[in-house]
Amino acid sequence: MNVLVINAGSSSLKYQLLNPQTETLLAVGLCERIGIDGKFTYKPQLDGKETLKAIDVAMPTHSEAIQAVLNALVDEKNGVIASMKEIDAVGHRVVHGGDVFSGSVLITDDVMKALEDCIPLAPLHNPANITGINACVAVMGADVPQVGVFDTAFHQTMPAKAFTYALPYKYYTEDKVRRYGFHGTSHKYVAGRAAAMLGKDVADLKLVSCHLGNGSSVTAIDAGKSVDTSMGFTPLAGLPMGTRSGDIDAGIMEYLMNKHNMDITEMVSILNKKSGVFGVSDLSSDFRDLENAGKDGNAEAALSVEMFNYGVKKLIGSYAAAMGGVDAVIFTAGVGENSASQRLDIAGGLEFMGITMDAEANKVRGEETVISTADSKVKVLLIPTNEELMIAMDTAAIVSAL
Ligand code: AMP
Repeated sequence: MNVLVINAGSSSLKYQLLNPQTETLLAVGLCERIGIDGKFTYKPQLDGKETLKAIDVAMPTHSEAIQAVLNALVDEKNGVIASMKEIDAVGHRVVHGGDVFSGSVLITDDVMKALEDCIPLAPLHNPANITGINACVAVMGADVPQVGVFDTAFHQTMPAKAFTYALPYKYYTEDKVRRYGFHGTSHKYVAGRAAAMLGKDVADLKLVSCHLGNGSSVTAIDAGKSVDTSMGFTPLAGLPMGTRSGDIDAGIMEYLMNKHNMDITEMVSILNKKSGVFGVSDLSSDFRDLENAGKDGNAEAALSVEMFNYGVKKLIGSYAAAMGGVDAVIFTAGVGENSASQRLDIAGGLEFMGITMDAEANKVRGEETVISTADSKVKVLLIPTNEELMIAMDTAAIVSAL
């Protein structure tokens, strides 16, 4: 079964064509500057096929972008399938499913209506995801099943004590203000891989999954279910990130807005775009730059990385406490998969809770590896995430059951 995985943004659209049963990637690419001047990238994964890199293709809307993807996939010379009939289903990444979706779903008219209702919860992301779904239906026809896979769905198992904010309760009941959590597709995928690596059923494991990238979140996973996570009502919460502040004292906002005569839009923009490790270092949101600058004596760059690592360390400890133990800690995403020094800084010094890192094994990058010592009571695992494969797997499971 071939699944086309679509991740639609407001002016971009990432895509992959893959077979989730054999885990074969057939093609991957990106449509950029949709509605502007249209740049199309296509990377077929079969020998002898040519890559197209940011070529000019008119894409006034997402429909032309999807059409360009399909044209490339079935192209006589560089295509990877003979016809559109070889695409069995489309899996769409959808950022926010509110408290309506606790798993992936076949897109129907009712689901589209529910997605529209979730727009106020993710005003920047959900409209683009909806546009992507509509464009696929328009171009591919109603016969190709479309499936929605939500970043929030995996966290719907959190208990009320973990997802409720200590605000007047009516803001939850009337306005749906609660912790939702994000990166659910990634956390779910690595939890499944962790169970496979440890040769255990995920139902028998307590895991702390650290998705550390430009956006970062840590999740406590007990018996395969998310029981707590660091992102909140929005992806602004939790750890300091590339440019996002993570958790701050809400009182800071009033203080700074009054002092610098800022309105709420400016304030929130600072929290989203000018804060995090970028804000503290005033240098970069990229951890590689910060590690290098830190080594060269830039104190704020070093501090920003230290703050981030310290935040992850505290979450590992608190989630172990929340679950009454932990069997494995997982590192994934850009930083988690690549930065040996950050992994060591985060998981080092946790011997008191049964975590002993293997400095030699930890030198690896981007490969499934056990990076704790053989006698470490709690295993530490490096697991490259694969959100697209998870979306394709969920899509295949739903379509197969139709
Ligand atoms: P992601 O959002 O998962 O794509 O992660 C992107 C982030 O991973 C980048 O901003 C980098 O800071 C970080 N990253 C990638 N490679 C490395 C590396 N070798 N060392 C440290 N950080 C890295």
